[in-house]
Amino acid sequence: MGKNKYTTRLKKFARRNDLKLEYENVLERPVIMRAVINGQRFPDGEGQNAEKAKQNAAQNALKSLNEKENLIVEVRWCMCLYMEHVSQICCSILNNDVISEKSVFLSDEEKRFKCISVNSNSQFDYVEELGKGAFGRVVKVKDKLVEKYYAIKIIRWNEKALREPMVLSDLEHPNIIRYFSCWTEYSGYQSDSTDESCSTQSFTGSPKKYLYIQMELCDTRTLLDWIEDWYTKKSNSKRREESLTIAQQMVGGIEYIHSKKLIHRDLKPANILFGQDTKVKIGDFGLVTAENDDDDKSPIKRTEEKGTPSYMAPEQKGKNYGRKVDIFALGLIYFELLWKISSCYEKSKVDIRKQELPQEFASTFISEYITIRSMLSMNPEDRPEASKVITDLEECAKQINAEEIARRGRATV
Ligand code: ATP
Ligand code: MG
Repeated sequence: MGKNKYTTRLKKFARRNDLKLEYENVLERPVIMRAVINGQRFPDGEGQNAEKAKQNAAQNALKSLNEKENLIVEVRWCMCLYMEHVSQICCSILNNDVISEKSVFLSDEEKRFKCISVNSNSQFDYVEELGKGAFGRVVKVKDKLVEKYYAIKIIRWNEKALREPMVLSDLEHPNIIRYFSCWTEYSGYQSDSTDESCSTQSFTGSPKKYLYIQMELCDTRTLLDWIEDWYTKKSNSKRREESLTIAQQMVGGIEYIHSKKLIHRDLKPANILFGQDTKVKIGDFGLVTAENDDDDKSPIKRTEEKGTPSYMAPEQKGKNYGRKVDIFALGLIYFELLWKISSCYEKSKVDIRKQELPQEFASTFISEYITIRSMLSMNPEDRPEASKVITDLEECAKQINAEEIARRGRATV
């Protein structure tokens, strides 16, 4: 290290974190100085002359920053991996160097993102947490350079985690969440017992690897919220039309996924989002698999473990299944959009997963009933392909239109 190592390091730290660094003269004899970062004073440094006093002041400031162990992360190394081109963008070895986070000066909320994001070059500002799933945490961030908002999913690293960005980077469809980039980072913060994803609860100093996936930012309300909101409303005259539009967009995305020889495997309302363009966006490709991937036909249990309602097709519990599992899930979701099983009587009488739909549903939504029933066929071969569902839903749309015209006609007589 050069003789100015402490002042240089402190200067770099301040510049990297966009902080204002100044030195104050405390005393002239003996010469005493101190570093002031964003108005915060650090311990005095004494020296034979101004230069030495400044070095000592910088050294004391770095030491003091380093001691705030809950806020400072020692980074052994940091690697950014951009999967789009599968090329390493940057790799910096920072052995035994102190990289302290700007988070020392941030609010608690910001620290939550910052403390798991130890990338000193981070171009993102934390905004808020958007959601938490079994595998990760999703945060809203602002890209400081282009001044745009994105969602970043942060997952504890494992080989299979890469599947999601690898697949997403190949997909381009208006009803599939848009992927921007991904990278890995190391953090000295270890997960706590209740959250395998990322947490600032305990500091161990041993870096853990996380995968960051940058995606388009969607509405905070998922299809699950849409359904719950609708359940609380007494009536919604537009529900039938809206449900149809949502189902049509979903199946558009599913047809595209299947055309790429992929199976989503985890379609459920919480994984269906709405984009800024108000379009339906299929998200959470954490369980996606290639249709001919013989090694990996058994589903990961994450959804079950979380206790969320199961949208798995019957055959998905075994090893032999294909893209039709997505059609089964779509059938369940479309039914849920249209109908709430409210009474205990109805609950005891029907078993949706066995194609037993309520009688009243069948008579109210005749064309939807036929389509949904076929999607819920126990035998996957009897379920329609996504392309067939698209034409079936077009028929539903015509039927709904015809019924509406007839209803208006009756109303005007
Ligand atoms: P799980 O395994 O529980 O289904 P997960 O850990 O794989 O979930 P996601 O389903 O991808 O994670 O995301 C969890 C939640 O974060 C979503 O239900 C949604 O509320 C929110 N979310 C995910 N992606 C976005 C996004 N791009 N924009 C806005 N919110 C998002
Ligand atoms: Mg999810």
